[in-house]
Amino acid sequence: MKFIQTRGIDPTKPTSVTFSEAILSPIASYGGLYVPEKLPNLGIDFLNKHLNSSYKVLAKDMLEHFEIDIEPSVIDEALALYDKFDDPANPVPVVKVKENLYVSELYHGPTRAFKDMALQPFGVVLSSIAQKRGEHYLILAATSGDTGPAALETFKNRANVQVACMYPDGGTSDVQRLQMVTEDAPNLKVIGINGVFDDAQSALKRLLASNEFKAALKEKNILLSAANSVNFGRIIFQIIYHIHSYLELVRQGALAMGEKVYLNVPSGNFGNALGGYYAWKMGVPVEKIIISSNENNVLTRLIKTGKYDLRGCDVVNTTSPAMDILKSSNVERVLYDLFGEVRTKELMESLEAHNFYELSADELSRLRECFDADFANGDEGKQYIKDTFEQDSYLMDPHTATCFKAYYTCSNPQIKSIVYSTAEWTKFSPVIANALTGEVDAEDIVALESISKTAKLEIPAMVKGLFTKPIAQSTVIEKTEIEKEILSFL
Ligand SMILES: *Cc1c(COP(=O)(O)O)cnc(C)c1O
Repeated sequence: MKFIQTRGIDPTKPTSVTFSEAILSPIASYGGLYVPEKLPNLGIDFLNKHLNSSYKVLAKDMLEHFEIDIEPSVIDEALALYDKFDDPANPVPVVKVKENLYVSELYHGPTRAFKDMALQPFGVVLSSIAQKRGEHYLILAATSGDTGPAALETFKNRANVQVACMYPDGGTSDVQRLQMVTEDAPNLKVIGINGVFDDAQSALKRLLASNEFKAALKEKNILLSAANSVNFGRIIFQIIYHIHSYLELVRQGALAMGEKVYLNVPSGNFGNALGGYYAWKMGVPVEKIIISSNENNVLTRLIKTGKYDLRGCDVVNTTSPAMDILKSSNVERVLYDLFGEVRTKELMESLEAHNFYELSADELSRLRECFDADFANGDEGKQYIKDTFEQDSYLMDPHTATCFKAYYTCSNPQIKSIVYSTAEWTKFSPVIANALTGEVDAEDIVALESISKTAKLEIPAMVKGLFTKPIAQSTVIEKTEIEKEILSFL
């Protein structure tokens, strides 16, 4: 399978690239992204064939349909990482919350958030490509809390790859910070920055674009890459769990094969939702994809009005920080799929130049055939956490909670819904403790104990253990010092 480009082809780029090439340099012509030339058409036969398959067998067959240039043994090694999830036989449990409403839990991996679903196998794939080419990579990551731990965990001690991960000191939860600073491996460097997430992100963008920095790396024989969520090497692993979740409901007798479902996705950079969209196009019977957001509701406005409008918009900090995003990068792949490369280039250039684009009435109606959207603010989210816990005995995190508003406002309750849960309660415990009991400003460890008591849930050993694990990474610096710090680590 070849990969082509969302904004057409400039004269400096090849007309198409392999999967490995799309992974190593994910930015295509005119700042666009790579997409598969043609999605495999799996159809209902594939679903029937895998009705009783394990997650790994399903994943392997789906990946084979993409015909990617990765050795089968590497794919096996990558998929074997799902054995580290809570239940190796079923890494993604789908649980019933109430009539017609199910939650697909994507957070049972080593860092307790859904980033593990894609980053765990991605680490193996990237390291193997680097080894095969005899190249060494520096992976840069900037994180508001979930990507960093997942990236460190997956690249830890892997050959031919080093990671420098920047986070805003004081800007993550205690659990998220401890997950990073207790990671001890010679190929990992964690850098706290005196600043906010945007400072870390700007530093990342600056370094990725800096020729000086690249030249300094080249002297050390190191190439630069990033593991961000536009990388198709992550997206491909995010299609699988949508197929799996559908099959899981058929297995449970909750769905008849072929019956349509809503996919309700808490969205930031739109990787998770895009995976659902691709799964739909490949044959999973979907009624519509519902995009849930927090107060940073640019996606809600896009899908309701056809306007992507960032004029005068600033990111606001919310209780669901992994979705505090304004430029939702993977939307571009949907634009491409619906409207083609010429129009995608036009729209994306308008967004870059004017912080704005507007779909035509016809385009908006095509978008709305696939998607609907709503957002929940922090108080609404907390109310859904409390009500769902008290009425349905189901405990969820603040990102997942945004889906419940959209469930009530956007879906037909006669049709079954799958809500995607992206984080375990342990990652955002102060907000959840506040929702359940009203306690404010608790430290994570206090909030964890309190939720554990209220909800009669054990704190998982890997979370509890963080509070006594030695700190291996103690660098906290000014943002001006980042480049120097990374170079001295290499
Ligand atoms: C990353 C993340 C999201 C957003 O997912 P996208 O694929 O970027 O839309 C939602 N919730 C949590 C907990 C996350 O870590």
